[in-house]
Amino acid sequence: MNFDLTAEQEMIKKMIREFSDEVVAPGSIDRDRNKQFPVEVFKQLSEMGIMGLPFPEEYGGGGADTVSFAIVTEELSRACASTGITYSAHISLGGAPLNLFGTKEQKHKYLTPICTGESFGAFGLTEPNAGSDAGGTQTTAAKSNGEYIINGNKCFITNASYAKHLAITAITGMNDGKKEISAIIIPTDAKGFSVIDNYEKMGLNASNTTELVMENVRVPEENLLGKEGEGFKQFLITLDGGRIGIGAMAVGIAQGAFDKSLQYTKERKQFGKSLSSFQAVQFKLADMAMKIELARNMVYKAAWLKDQGRPFSKEASMCKLYASEICMEVTNQAVQLHGGYGYMKEYHVERMMRDAKLLEIGEGTSEIQRTVIARLIGC
Ligand SMILES: Cc1cc2nc3c(=O)[nH]c(=O)nc-3n(C[C@H](O)[C@H](O)[C@H](O)COP(=O)(O)OP(=O)(O)OC[C@H]3O[C@@H](n4cnc5c(N)ncnc54)[C@H](O)[C@@H]3O)c2cc1C
Repeated sequence: MNFDLTAEQEMIKKMIREFSDEVVAPGSIDRDRNKQFPVEVFKQLSEMGIMGLPFPEEYGGGGADTVSFAIVTEELSRACASTGITYSAHISLGGAPLNLFGTKEQKHKYLTPICTGESFGAFGLTEPNAGSDAGGTQTTAAKSNGEYIINGNKCFITNASYAKHLAITAITGMNDGKKEISAIIIPTDAKGFSVIDNYEKMGLNASNTTELVMENVRVPEENLLGKEGEGFKQFLITLDGGRIGIGAMAVGIAQGAFDKSLQYTKERKQFGKSLSSFQAVQFKLADMAMKIELARNMVYKAAWLKDQGRPFSKEASMCKLYASEICMEVTNQAVQLHGGYGYMKEYHVERMMRDAKLLEIGEGTSEIQRTVIARLIGC
């Protein structure tokens, strides 16, 4: 067994950590306050060749592995979780289904601009009446004269305002009384397609979360991703990979909150001593460090299994569930360790705590992860 990162993974980690400290972290409070999408950060990440990191070089990607993707997501999230979720969704929800299920032509046309950073990646699955029960999709795509005519609404879709195209799921027919769901690629400038960026969120304020409205949107049949009726299977596979991204985000946010707490408790003096000299404080920090370490090992293991071409659904669900729950705990303790200052924006940890909450909800809630794990352990 070897727990060392490869030379390439180490190099990526060092590069993104420096970039995050120097470029991503400094504007994080202002971007959160002003709900400002990190355009400049992503311009630089595009120039660094990071936007298509785990995708084939043939389509402009970096040909790197999933562990490297997890490292980048973790390091960006350590500095700014809004930047982390934007990147994670771009790769694992936007690019991955195109890479996994697209034809060569579709990949050249749609994956390449994602890899170069010309377009952000996004994926429209959730609907007002279909969240955890994503099979409850009500959006329809009716075939007519070589086109799909799409009608419906999607909610909470990450990155869509900055995407040139995105895959959505829709009902394309019925089979034995069951809905046949398919994934279809829609250019975001298509007639009848609107993106509404109007949510007021608890956290991740600098990330882009949107509603999609589709009114008689027409796309050619060739925009079907994979085969008709395979959309349900495809999004389950897509979400498996996405859960590694959410797990990595959780590790990054928790690490960021721990780093701030360690530094603060060493500097802050009460009763004539540094807070970090009190055993009650040390025990909190020890528990935080231990949980982060375990969560990171789980995320990297799931990513490694995926890279080996081995089954990883159970490990992806477990790492997402564990990492998101400890992230909530760690960020909560981080605010506690900062006392009243922790409640103030200037100290970063309150933002981290607000941002952390989404990780227990997105890409399958904690309850849904437990359902998935229970099924996979044979319940
Ligand atoms: C900021 C943000 C970004 C997002 N980005 C995207 C995106 O890019 N693309 C996309 O498609 N979606 C996205 N989502 C949607 C997200 O994946 C859903 O919100 C999530 O899957 C939960 O669905 P829901 O909100 O409808 O909650 P519901 O499914 O209504 O769940 C409500 C509660 O009921 C519980 N529950 C539901 N069913 C069961 C059950 N069978 N057993 C036990 N408990 C259950 C849930 O666990 C939860 O606690 C995003 C959401 C947010 C907030």
